[in-house]
Amino acid sequence: MRLNRYLIALLPAILSFTGCNKEKTDTPYVVMVSLDAFRWDYDSIYGTPVLDDIAAKGVMAGRLIPSFPTKTFPNHYTIATGLYPDHHGLVNNSFYAPDLDLVYRIGDRAMVSDGDFYGGEPIWVTAHKQGVKSASFYWVGSEAPIEGIHPDYWKTYDDEVPFGDRVDTVLKWLSLPAERRPHFITLYFEEPDATSHTYGPVSPETGAVVRSLDSLVGTLRTGIASLPHAKDINLIVLSDHGMGAVDESRYNYIMDTLPQAMVRRIYGGNPVWAVEPVEGMTDSVLYYLNLQHGMKAYRKEDLPPYLHYGTHPRIPAVVLIADPGWTAGLRPEPGRYSKGDHGYDWKWRDMHAIFYAEGPAFRRGFAADTLFNIDVYNIVTDIMGLNPAPNDGNRDRISPLFR
Ligand code: AMP
Ligand code: ZN
Ligand code: ZN
Repeated sequence: MRLNRYLIALLPAILSFTGCNKEKTDTPYVVMVSLDAFRWDYDSIYGTPVLDDIAAKGVMAGRLIPSFPTKTFPNHYTIATGLYPDHHGLVNNSFYAPDLDLVYRIGDRAMVSDGDFYGGEPIWVTAHKQGVKSASFYWVGSEAPIEGIHPDYWKTYDDEVPFGDRVDTVLKWLSLPAERRPHFITLYFEEPDATSHTYGPVSPETGAVVRSLDSLVGTLRTGIASLPHAKDINLIVLSDHGMGAVDESRYNYIMDTLPQAMVRRIYGGNPVWAVEPVEGMTDSVLYYLNLQHGMKAYRKEDLPPYLHYGTHPRIPAVVLIADPGWTAGLRPEPGRYSKGDHGYDWKWRDMHAIFYAEGPAFRRGFAADTLFNIDVYNIVTDIMGLNPAPNDGNRDRISPLFR
């Protein structure tokens, strides 16, 4: 009995001595921050001294190219997995999944936390499988068991949690004793997305939020710098997409020309709608949708190849995309007009996002012209020395970033 207790107390030491304790504590750290809808050119429009300083001491990209559709959920999960939305299955913020016979919506907790929707392998699952701890103060997918796995520490999304509290928690995680400390951490802020939807990307309100986020990143940076292991921590600050100006004068209502009887299902939201025509009606649906100027409907197999979109079974026969600056709604909804939106073809420059990074892995003062968000998964797994899962990224594009 006594001997047993003695052995139990010694177990951690025995396990680590024999190499059975799989937890790895010598892995470099990566803290990845997302500022939702932070557009590529806000540094020059509004002034972002903290981000500029990260660029001077680390790396930045002139633009981070998002994946199509340039919406929050598809892109955060692309960043986490290195897969196009067409390959990971979060094909929009809302969609019908015939494989599950369920409708996914970002406001539906049950769906957001259902692991069956999420294909591919997010970074925290890769880390877990290789004995590395991770934590998430929000990230798309972190609330669902994916292959049965969550980050070791994670939170249910609640937009009322003050931004400063989120930063404090991340710094607390980084201060945990080594054996409990996460090595990969995500941190998400739903701004400047919310403000710029309401007031537009170029507005005093968006400017104020952009500047306060810049100084919040400064708080995080100062906190990281004061940690004893600061020199092992890499910080990445990025966004999921940009934001384009829209207005009421360029507005289409899909159901103005499309006969309801031809439609079996229609899901999505401006600017991308997925239309499942009634059997045999595909040509007619395309005809009626394309009567309107300011939007274009495609057979899914005819979508431009650079969108990498249209093969997933969750994408139905017809995809409608509003033109840059235009809004496509189903029917008039007075009072629901916004001044900014995203989701458009990534070739519209206003959809482009940001990428800044600093730390021991990154070169100092290096500016890349363009990066693609399918490459972020490889950037993180390379830094952390993790074996990556198959993904759509290309290593040649990221090697110039590293020391
Ligand atoms: P959108 O601008 O429509 O692409 O989506 C942005 C919205 O996604 C933000 O306003 C957030 O409130 C919401 N969001 C972000 N992460 C989550 C999450 N994990 N669960 C639910 N909603 C989220
Ligand atoms: Zn977003
Ligand atoms: Zn948004």
